Parts: sequence; structure tokens; C-alpha cells
Amino acid sequence: MSIQKPHSNEVSQLQQQLAESRALREQLEFGFRADMKNLTQFIGRLANALRGIDGELDHRLSRLSTDMARTDNIERVMPAMEDVSQVLQQQGSRVQRELQETHNRILAASKQLQKMHGLPKPMREELRDLIAQAEGPAFSIMHYLPYLRQMIDLYQRSIHLKLSRNDSSGVLEQMRESAEKKYSELKEELINLLSLVDFSGSASNGLQNIRQQLIGGINEEQFVLSCVQVVRLIVQGINEERQTAQVFLQNLNDVLETVSKSVKKTLKANQKTHSAQKLLDDRLHAGIRALSDSAQKATSLKELTAEIGKHVEVIASTLGQKQELEQHGHQLLQAELEAAQNRIIELEEQAETYKTKLTEQKFKSLQDTLTRLPNRAAFEERLELEFKRWQRYQTPLCIAIADIDNFKAINDSYGHIAGDKTLQVIASMLKKSLRGTDFVARFGGEEFVVIFPQTEMSSIADPLEKARKRIQSIPFKFKNNDISITISIGAARFSAEDSISSVFERADEALYAAKNSGRNKVVIDSR
Ligand code: GH3
Ligand code: MG
Ligand code: MG
Repeated sequence: MSIQKPHSNEVSQLQQQLAESRALREQLEFGFRADMKNLTQFIGRLANALRGIDGELDHRLSRLSTDMARTDNIERVMPAMEDVSQVLQQQGSRVQRELQETHNRILAASKQLQKMHGLPKPMREELRDLIAQAEGPAFSIMHYLPYLRQMIDLYQRSIHLKLSRNDSSGVLEQMRESAEKKYSELKEELINLLSLVDFSGSASNGLQNIRQQLIGGINEEQFVLSCVQVVRLIVQGINEERQTAQVFLQNLNDVLETVSKSVKKTLKANQKTHSAQKLLDDRLHAGIRALSDSAQKATSLKELTAEIGKHVEVIASTLGQKQELEQHGHQLLQAELEAAQNRIIELEEQAETYKTKLTEQKFKSLQDTLTRLPNRAAFEERLELEFKRWQRYQTPLCIAIADIDNFKAINDSYGHIAGDKTLQVIASMLKKSLRGTDFVARFGGEEFVVIFPQTEMSSIADPLEKARKRIQSIPFKFKNNDISITISIGAARFSAEDSISSVFERADEALYAAKNSGRNKVVIDSR
């Protein structure tokens, strides 16, 4: 059996078909590789463009992009592609939701801003246009970004406008004013309290510096720091005082010990002297006895003289020793006593300085350091006393409050040192213009108080007027300007059911009336 050979025509036809299909395959493979390359590049760019929108998406895209760069086999990267497509789908609906939400928020915020009072016309128009544009449908994030930026800008400008404008109807402004008022009250109180604390040591300078800074004006943050610093200095002052007291007590202890030792020593010396003296006394008695025996036994004058001479010598020498011993004991005692006395004198001197210091301190704690007038604590103590007298004896009693007019302007224009000087001069003039029996004190800041004990209301107007006029005519000169400074005074008397605070309140109201009616006035509450 023989195999039939194919016809040569058929062979060449087959060969041609084979070559054609090979060329086609190569062409396809080439196209596929180019597509894969393009796709890889595209995914790389997509990953770049979407970077930062979603962490998960970033991660998946970067994995897909590396997988694709490594292989020609599309099957291998299919799972990674599926992942990306899933995350993209989720991301799409999330973006839509967020977009809608942002859209609503921008509209609500714009409308809220529109309701705010006091926006200038150009800003209102800008806002209206913005709302009109934002009211269109929510397309894409990119579509919203410019609105958002514009909206934030408008908000910032309107907040700045509100804060800087003196708009009493604005809530923010009211809050700011009330915080400022509170701060200024706290500052005044600290200034007053600082004039009450008075240490003699190094804390004193620090406290006075802080007081000057407070008067000179500081911001809230510095104020808080000052409070902390004040507490620190007070603790330091207390410690210094405690140390001084400890040194004094230590000295006292030393002296007592010295005295006790010297008394013991003297007693011991006394005991010793005492036994030595007893010995000498015994010897003396024995000598006298022997003298008497010899006198009786003597048979001749010569013998007697010789015996007496011998005994008398012994007696004389014993007497001499006795005298010496006494003298020595006396000197010892004297020296000890003198030493103890010197230590006691030293201690007495120390105690004296300490006592003066304590009295001074008591005095200082009742005196205002700047004006040297009694301070608020002294005023309160005295008013309490006068109030009790008034209650018991019904003798008339009046008080007055004086406040320097526009004092802040003096500080602001000429500095707080000039302000301090002014306070001193006015305090002294106020005191000088009233009677010695009237009690004038610095209540705090630029306010003074006067107690008129046993004085009728009818008798206070004249002296107060006199004080007001004399203060007005003090020729102040600051930075070459002639300045006249005035005070306003409010006064009231104790009557019927009054308490200290009710009278004080009436005097304060009278002062307020004096200020309101143009300042530089004396107003006396008529009740
Ligand atoms: P008015 O006529 O209404 O009383 O105005 P005023 O400016 O006197 O009142 P205000 O209470 O506004 O200001 C008082 C000022 O006194 C503010 C405060 O800094 C200043 N002051 C308080 N104590 C001292 C002080 O010991 N020394 C100095 N230099 N200034 C002080
Ligand atoms: Mg005042
Ligand atoms: Mg004032």
C-alpha cells in the first residue's frame, strides 16, 4: 500500500496560509503588547490623578499598576482590576453623597450669613450672586471648590468686620465688652490689693514693679502671668519673714542656754567655795581652840608668848586664805553674772527691734504705701468702730467718697508716674483741707473716702467744697502743659435703719450723680 503524495500546488497553498497566519499572529501580539503598555501607562496616570482622594483606592491602583508592569498576561492582573473597579464604584456613590451634603451646607451657611446685620452693600451683593450660583445642581467637587473658597473668604471678612465695629447689638461685641469689664475690674482689685501687702525684703520691689506694670496697662495674658508672679513673691516674702523670726528665736534660745549654764556654773562654784570655806573655818576653830589650850597650859609668860605667837600665825594665815577664797568666789560670780547680763542686754535690744518691726508692719498693713494715707482696711476698721458708736450713742455720723475726674486720661497722656505723683498731691491736699478729726483714707485706685465722726450733715458741705476748690486750683504741670485736675464727691449720713453698706451705697449714688451732672461737684444725699 502506498501513501499518496499531495499535489505540489496544495503544498504551496498550505505553506502560504501558514505564513499568513503567523504574520497575523505576530501582528496581533504586537498590537496586544502596545495596548498593554498603553493601559499600564493609563493606570499609572489614573493613580496619580486620583492620589489622595481615598487611601484604599490609592493602594489598589498602585498594586494594579505594578502588577501590569510585571506581566504580559492579562489574566494575571484581572483580580486586581476587579478590586479597583469595585472600590471605584463605592467611591462614586460616596462622592455623590458628600457632594450633596456640601451643597446643602454651603447654601445654609450663605443664607445664615445673609441674615446677619450690618454687612455692607457690596458684600451683600457678592453673597447674593454666590447663592444664585450655588443653587444650581451639584455636578462635581471641582465645580464646588471655587464657591467654597469664595464663601470662606466672605465669612472671614464679615467676622473681621463684626469684631472691629463698635456694634452694641452684636452678641460677640457684648461678650467682648463684658469680658473686658471683668478684666478691668480684676486688674483694679489686684492694684488695690498690692498696695495692702507690704514686705520689707526683696519681694517688696518685685510686687511694686508688678503694680506699676498693672497701672501702666497690660494685656490679659500678661495679667494672668502677673497673678502667678504675685503669688510667688508673696510666698517668698512670707518665707523671708519666717526666716527672720526663726533667727530671732534661735538667738533667744542661745541666750537662755548661756544664762542657764552660767547659773549652774555659779551654783557649782558656790558649792565648792562653801566646802573650802568650811575647811578653813574648821582650821580657824581648831587654831583658836589650840590657842586657848596653850594659854591654859602655859606656865610662864615667855612660854605663853611663844605659844600664842605660833597659833596666831596659823590663825592669821587661815584668815588670809579665807578672805582670798571669798574674794575669788566673788570675782567668779561677778564675771559670770556680767556675761549673762551682757547676753540679756543683747537679747533685749534684739527684741526691741523686732517689736518695732512688728508695730511698723501692723501700721504698714493699715497704710497705703503711695499716699501714706490710711488704706481701705484701715477705713473699714475705723468705720466699723464709728458705726458702733453711732448705734450706741446716736451721735451724728457722715461719710464721703471722692473720685478724681478723668484720671485715666492723666495716665494715658502723661504716664503712670505722673499719675502716681498726682495721687500723692491730691491725697495730701484732701487731708489738709479737712479737720484733723476727720478720717481720710485711700479707698483704692483714684478713690478716697472720708469719715466725719460726730458731725452733722449740715457741717460737711463747706469743708468738702473747700477741699474740691483747693484741689481744682493746684497748678499741675506735665510736659510743659498747665493742667487743672478736679474731683467729684458724693456724701451721705447715717440715719434710722442704716447699715454701713446702705450708707456707702447712698454716698456712691451721690458720687455718680456728681459725675453725671458734669463732674467737679459735691453732691450730698439728702436722706
Ligand atoms: P471718671 O471721671 O468717670 O472717674 O473717669 P476716670 O478716668 O477717673 O475713671 P476710670 O475708673 O475709668 O479710671 C481710673 C484710672 O485710674 C484707671 C487706673 O488705671 C488708674 N489708677 C488706679 N490706681 C492707680 C494708681 O495707683 N496709680 C496710677 N497712676 N493710676 C491708677
Ligand atoms: Mg473711679
Ligand atoms: Mg475717676
